[in-house]
Amino acid sequence: MATFVEEKAENPFEIAQQQFDIAADILNLDHGMRQILRVPQRELTVRFPVTMDDGSVRVFTGYRVHHNITRGPAKGGIRYHPAVDIDEVRALAMWMSWKCALVNIPYGGAKGGIVVDPKQLSTHELEHMTRRFASEISLLIGPEKDIPAPDVGTNAQIMAWIMDTISMHRGYTVPAVVTGKPIDVFGSLGRTDATGRGVSITAREAAKHLGISFADARAVVQGFGNVGSASAALIQKMGAKIVAVSDVSGGYYNPQGLDVPTMMRYAAQNRSLEGYKEPGLEHVTNGELLELECEILVPAALENQITGANADRIKARIIVEGANGPTTPSADEILYDRGVFIVPDILANAGGVTVSYFEWVQGLQEFFWSEEEINERLERIMIRSFSSVLEIALRDRVPLRTAAYVVAVKRVADATLIRGIYP
Ligand code: NAD
Repeated sequence: MATFVEEKAENPFEIAQQQFDIAADILNLDHGMRQILRVPQRELTVRFPVTMDDGSVRVFTGYRVHHNITRGPAKGGIRYHPAVDIDEVRALAMWMSWKCALVNIPYGGAKGGIVVDPKQLSTHELEHMTRRFASEISLLIGPEKDIPAPDVGTNAQIMAWIMDTISMHRGYTVPAVVTGKPIDVFGSLGRTDATGRGVSITAREAAKHLGISFADARAVVQGFGNVGSASAALIQKMGAKIVAVSDVSGGYYNPQGLDVPTMMRYAAQNRSLEGYKEPGLEHVTNGELLELECEILVPAALENQITGANADRIKARIIVEGANGPTTPSADEILYDRGVFIVPDILANAGGVTVSYFEWVQGLQEFFWSEEEINERLERIMIRSFSSVLEIALRDRVPLRTAAYVVAVKRVADATLIRGIYP
């Protein structure tokens, strides 16, 4: 099995704070405001037992963190991964605050996670662990205060179990307590591929800005889960050639272009791309994949993939961050100097939370929209957000990440100032 590049080599929360500091300096935020926005507002750690299939008891550790709720209820996914820790959850919660502010939806930022490899659990164990975790964090979650969603290692079924658990506690069905639910139980049309759709739209806008023809572009996607597979499928549909994708089993490279729909069916059946075959296929590691010749690179797995150690070997002209935190600040600097155009995570992958917002609104109103309407509204928001960030980046001659942070942090700081400090 291929090794992953420098996973967790750098502390994601420290990185998130460094990124915030750059924007705080540009915005000239005072010391008090920096103190408020630099740290999460609430952190809940839970340790809870689950009876496993063999009758033994296992205690799991989970987290739910609210970074900031000034602009609305806390919003953010739940991750199931063995490398989850409090600093990762803090970083992801902070990034959610900025992401929601950037696309201007009325949410604060949150994130949660359990330290677990869900692939090692039976369906029965996964359900019990999820329901107990939902009960433990029910102190915090609810349609008016904190609305979880899927992230790495979680999916629509897990969201259905959380919704059902909270509904059992309350004694009535509470659709709007989570988003990313299955369509049969108050999910939204268009949610499954919303993050990938946003990634593909920002990739297209970036290519347009740089004068790169999408029809002649080659794209490489790291990660083939919810975000990676939908990004690959939609980028291909827009005319570019997907020459490589990867997952935890390694990278799959075909310079002639991969058969993405067949790969998606294979991954759905086998829970991974391991063993996938097609004519002309070459195997590469996840590290090598990032350095392939291409116009568009979409990291869509985990944090810290593009670092000071490999940034000077990246050949892509555009990086569209499907994942949260895939590029470290030292890599950012190297890539900016080399003229690589990075569409930052809080912009590129905001399609997911945008359609989650639509799902929450539909759940609260019990009035459901057509897929066409959802995709149109999403496209409008992504294009508007991309152009407002690009405008500031060009005006102030700063990277897109800095421009995106300036827009987002300013919105949260302004709201904080207007609301004032209680009591
Ligand atoms: P997922 O669990 O559906 O897929 C994750 C993918 O990454 C899988 O293909 C997995 O094999 C691969 N992966 C995991 N560990 C790996 C490793 N060590 N080496 C190589 N590949 C590895 O998760 P997802 O929901 O697609 O999330 C991917 C990224 O996108 C995360 O950074 C997440 O925070 C971010 N994101 C997700 C959403 C969403 O709506 N799901 C929204 C915004 C951002």
